[in-house]
Amino acid sequence: MLLAHKIRLFPTAEQETYFHKATGTARFAYNWGLAQVKKALDTKNKAPGWLTLKKQLNAIKRTEFPWMYEVTKCSPEAALSDLGTALANFWAGKRKGRKVGFPHFKKKGQAKDKFYVSNDQFALLGHVIRLPHIGAVAMSEPLRFTGKIMGAAVSRTAHHWFVSIQVEVEHTSVAHKSHVRAGGDLGLKTPITLSTGKTMDAPTPLKQSLKALARANRRLHRRQKGSKNRRKAAQEVARRHERIANIRKDWLHKATTLLARRYSLIAIEDLNVAGMLRSRRLARAVSDIGFGELRRQLAYKVPARGGLLVVVDRFYPSSRTCRKCKRVKDMPLSERIYVCDCGHVECRDLNAAKNLLCEATRTVGRTGTKACGPFTSTPKRRRFGASGRNEAGSPDSDTGHSNNSINLYPVC
Ligand SMILES: [Zn+2]
Repeated sequence: MLLAHKIRLFPTAEQETYFHKATGTARFAYNWGLAQVKKALDTKNKAPGWLTLKKQLNAIKRTEFPWMYEVTKCSPEAALSDLGTALANFWAGKRKGRKVGFPHFKKKGQAKDKFYVSNDQFALLGHVIRLPHIGAVAMSEPLRFTGKIMGAAVSRTAHHWFVSIQVEVEHTSVAHKSHVRAGGDLGLKTPITLSTGKTMDAPTPLKQSLKALARANRRLHRRQKGSKNRRKAAQEVARRHERIANIRKDWLHKATTLLARRYSLIAIEDLNVAGMLRSRRLARAVSDIGFGELRRQLAYKVPARGGLLVVVDRFYPSSRTCRKCKRVKDMPLSERIYVCDCGHVECRDLNAAKNLLCEATRTVGRTGTKACGPFTSTPKRRRFGASGRNEAGSPDSDTGHSNNSINLYPVC
């Protein structure tokens, strides 16, 4: 399994200048390569591949762009490789969601500042990374994963620099420590409602700072273009966005780690996040929680701990089905309590979460997925049934989890 650990860097002023040069070189190489491709296409020729571009660039580098030698050779090389991927995606034309467009030129100040370093070009020593040309750069923490180091990418967000180190980690199949299963209903009012009767609250960093963000943006656009004050105002806007993203990321990581640690099976619904983001009414709230990222993180954290993540079909009516008698009825979003003719009354989200768990258990049982590990042997399955009963009524140990500041609250 390929994992990446992103670590904050503390470069000196000289090292920061080098980072700017290296990211600039990467951007230049990308744009140069794209220009060659466009030229070839305009003259009805076959577009060169990225390896051809690399050869062409290396042939003229010394005479035409000698300044490229001031930074690591990985920087322009990886940029051309990125261009190759972008073009391949465009020509393949098949990706989930929106169509892939033709690559654009990268503009300074708008494109992400980033450059790659291959694994033979850097070394790690505790809190320090040794990079080509500039030597030791301080990191905020040592690398957490052990395994084969595949490469690193140095990037900038607002005024902070980071290094993302990719590590190939050996996947060891472990049995999950817990036998508790949970269904999780995702919603905008309550981000996560668990079938165990607990909910998770999420911060809404974007909503909280919309006013301040608008003010900062107004200030930016009143400043004269190209002025030092405009640059300062732009940095202020970037810093605010970074803080919003950090609050969101912090919560997502804590929430997904807690879920992956505590439940051996987690059932969630297959939300159409891309579709929700296209809706003017939902987009902001959906992106403020980060449902897409939540699912992405669960997908690797749950199996890594020996658990199983079940994504229930998008068309399964989890909110509209009665948990007791399985009758399906219409449930407008305004109805927060599920009231069934059979006499079943329950919080809407809790009813949905329990349905999701039920549906997931049914599918896993039917397909006999081996990934569930602890479920396969008989005694454990019996214990599993017991915990199933536990989920419905008696309080579980959801509160007071150490090493995590996420709180779980009772439903409704
Ligand atoms: Zn019913």
